[in-house]
Amino acid sequence: AVPLVVAINTSTAARNGMLIRDRIAMEEARNLDTVMFDKTGTLTKGEQGVVGVETAAGWSEADVFELAAGVEGDSEHMIARAIRTAAEERGLQRASVSNFENLRGLGVKATVGSEPRRGAKQVSGEQSGPRDGETVHLGGPNLLEKLGIERPAGITSFAEEAGSNAQTVIYLVHDESEVVAAFALADVIREESRQAVDALHAMDIEVAMLTGDSEDVAKAVSAELGIDQYFAEVLPEEKDTKVEQLQSEGKLVAMVGDGVNDAPALTRADVGIAIGSGTDVAIESGDIILVENNPHDVVRLVKLSKASYRKMQ
Ligand code: ADP
Ligand code: MG
Repeated sequence: AVPLVVAINTSTAARNGMLIRDRIAMEEARNLDTVMFDKTGTLTKGEQGVVGVETAAGWSEADVFELAAGVEGDSEHMIARAIRTAAEERGLQRASVSNFENLRGLGVKATVGSEPRRGAKQVSGEQSGPRDGETVHLGGPNLLEKLGIERPAGITSFAEEAGSNAQTVIYLVHDESEVVAAFALADVIREESRQAVDALHAMDIEVAMLTGDSEDVAKAVSAELGIDQYFAEVLPEEKDTKVEQLQSEGKLVAMVGDGVNDAPALTRADVGIAIGSGTDVAIESGDIILVENNPHDVVRLVKLSKASYRKMQ
C-alpha cells in the first residue's frame, strides 16, 4: 500500500504547487521545529534597485556608477544587475576593466582597464579617479572588514541611515585602501512572507532567517516579519553550519532558499526546500521544490505532510 499512498501524495503535492524529490523529507516535514529562510530572493523578491548613492570627496556620481558597473562585469548577482541598470538609466557607460574576480559572499574585484578613461581630465591633479592598473572592489561590509579599511564619515552616516531602512549598502573601494562610494539598494519583501511566518508560528514552528547581507538589514527585515532568530553576514561556506547549529540543539530543521549559496544548507537541512525560480544548483539540492515561488507554500507543505502521513499510521 505504501507506493500507492506515495503516488497520491505526490500528485496532491503537484496540485499544491510543489514537486517532491525526496519522499522521506516530505514525511519529516510534519515534525519540523524550525524553518530557516534565506532572505534575498526568498523572503524578498530579490528585485533590488539602487535608491541612493553617496560619494567621497573628489568623486562624482558618474565616476562611481561607471566604475561600479564596470567592476560588476557580467555577474549574475542581483546586486550586479541593480548596479548596471542604475548606470544605464543615467546614460553612463561601463568602465572597462580586466582581471575580474568574484569574491564569493564578499563582492567583486577588477583592475581598471587599459584605456585611460579620463584623458585630459586627469591633468587637473585634483581629480582622484582611478588610473590604469589600479584595483577596484565592490562589496558589502564583509568586504571592508576583510580589507581592513574604514569609511569616511559622510559614507558612514549614509550607510547607517540606509541600513535602518532595511536597504543593502554596497561599497566601492579604490586601490584597496579608500572607500569612494556607497550605494543603497532596496528590495521588496514578498507579501506572502508575513503570512508564512504567522502561519508557521500558529503551528508552533520557529522561524529563522539566514543572509549574507548586513546585520542592519537582517534586523530590520526580521522585525518587519516577526522572525524569531536571524543570522547575518554569513559567508556562503558558513550557511550550512547555521543549519547544523540549530540541529545540534535537537531541532528538526527545514531550509528554504533560492541561491547557489544556499545549496549546502539545503542539503544539510532535514527538509531542503528550493524556490522554483531559483538557481539550478539550489533546485538540485532541494528535497522539495516550490513551483510558485511562494514562501507561504511552506505552510501548505507542512499541512500536507501532516495530513498525508497521519493516514499511513
Ligand atoms: P545573500 O544572497 O544571502 O545576500 P551573497 O553571499 O550572495 O548572500 O552576498 C553576500 C553579500 O556579499 C551581499 O550582501 C553583498 O554585500 C556582497 N556581494 C555579493 N556579491 C556581490 C556583487 N556581485 N556585487 C557587490 N556585492 C556583492
Ligand atoms: Mg537568495
